[in-house]
Amino acid sequence: MLYNIAMMLKNKNEKQNIAIIGGGASGLVLAKKLCDAGLRVCVYERGERLGKKLSATGNGQGNITNRNVTCAEYFSVGKTDEKVSEILQKYDDKQVFDFFASLGVLLFFDERGRAYPTGRQASALTDVLRFYLQENGVETRLSTWVTDVKKQGETFVLTAKTQDGEKRFVADTVVFCTGGTAQKNFGTDGNAYARIRALGHTITKLYPSLVQLKTDTAHTKTLKGIRVADARLTATYEKNGERKTVSVIGDVIFTEYGVSGDAVFRISAFVTDVLHLGVTLSIDFLPEQTKESIATAIENKKSQFVSQSSSELLCGIVNNQIGRAIVKRENTADSSRLADGVKNFTLSVTGSLGFDYAQVTKGGVPLCEVTEGLQSKKVQGVYFAGETLDVDGQCGGFNLQWAFSSACAVADAIIKDKGQV
Ligand SMILES: Cc1cc2nc3c(=O)[nH]c(=O)nc-3n(C[C@H](O)[C@H](O)[C@H](O)COP(=O)(O)OP(=O)(O)OC[C@H]3O[C@@H](n4cnc5c(N)ncnc54)[C@H](O)[C@@H]3O)c2cc1C
Repeated sequence: MLYNIAMMLKNKNEKQNIAIIGGGASGLVLAKKLCDAGLRVCVYERGERLGKKLSATGNGQGNITNRNVTCAEYFSVGKTDEKVSEILQKYDDKQVFDFFASLGVLLFFDERGRAYPTGRQASALTDVLRFYLQENGVETRLSTWVTDVKKQGETFVLTAKTQDGEKRFVADTVVFCTGGTAQKNFGTDGNAYARIRALGHTITKLYPSLVQLKTDTAHTKTLKGIRVADARLTATYEKNGERKTVSVIGDVIFTEYGVSGDAVFRISAFVTDVLHLGVTLSIDFLPEQTKESIATAIENKKSQFVSQSSSELLCGIVNNQIGRAIVKRENTADSSRLADGVKNFTLSVTGSLGFDYAQVTKGGVPLCEVTEGLQSKKVQGVYFAGETLDVDGQCGGFNLQWAFSSACAVADAIIKDKGQV
């Protein structure tokens, strides 16, 4: 084996050789950028095709970025770092537009500032990147699962499982674009953390994010399958003696385990790492109505339908099943208390559906262990991009924006290091 490695090093192509581990969102953008700069790149992807997760994003429509990209939309489990905001400012949503425009893809913003390809197909984003790499002869090795990365002198030796058995490859630079551990069916099962740790890095605690939440279901058993549009969802918890509150407006869907829907996904980004502190969700079913207007509507019903059961008092105000559940829970016909139930239907969060259902991983390589160019401070020549790092974004295109921005930051750092500019 030592002989083989020595031969590989001897035969190594004179040109720069950059190994990109992971052919997902950040890996593909990085490969294009480095190829543009005339550098020799090889993308190692364990899956049988490139960009499997990218092609599934945004319900298959590819919410690639957002008009409101600032570091306020991002989280880190460890210490937050200035370099994230600098990178996001330097490689922003406009650059995403220009990048894809240069590949012949048009993007548009929807009313919530989310950007999608005009063809509304996420797979188109993967396709144009794949076409580009093919056209420009960029080496891509599919079904190649990198299981070990070792530095020998100035060179990295990668060991990979392939369809033809175990193989070794050499590189002078290695970039981990291996994603996180959300939804392992996309190849992201967190396997690369072991490789990254073996190189001397730590990995912060990991949490699922953009995920459905489990709640106590005592008052929601009859509500399974009901979707409430435009509800205000508020999460509250106490940290270090301080009460923290976050609210979003969106869809809430009742399920057998708790709640799902767009508002739940969005709020999960703020709370999955603090569930141990005890998080309460409050649903305001009618954010546009005041408590008084709801109480008046109940009073009007009471005065006219004297023979009706109190369980129907919220009929025509909220969904009938929700109305009955509120009356049952409040156990009263008092208009003010029922109006309270409509405006503040509380549930305790007991957990989340976990990494198998999460769209994103919270946590990863701590930002203090990388330079401004996202190069490892532990091993020169190792870089990180995308979800592998301890940066996760809110729902709405922010995670693909980070994959893009971090890939651009790495590309520029490598290009500078290799003296290509
Ligand atoms: C269903 C779903 C929908 C989403 N929708 C959106 C959205 O609309 N907008 C948005 O901003 N974000 C969305 N996200 C999140 C977004 O897709 C990710 O944040 C983004 O893809 C991360 O990019 P990445 O390059 O870091 O990793 P990934 O795109 O996950 O790519 C990592 C790649 O590395 C490969 N890999 C891992 N380990 C190895 C190894 N050892 N050897 C070789 N290859 C390896 C994997 O197979 C994978 O292809 C969604 C996520 C999911 C799951």
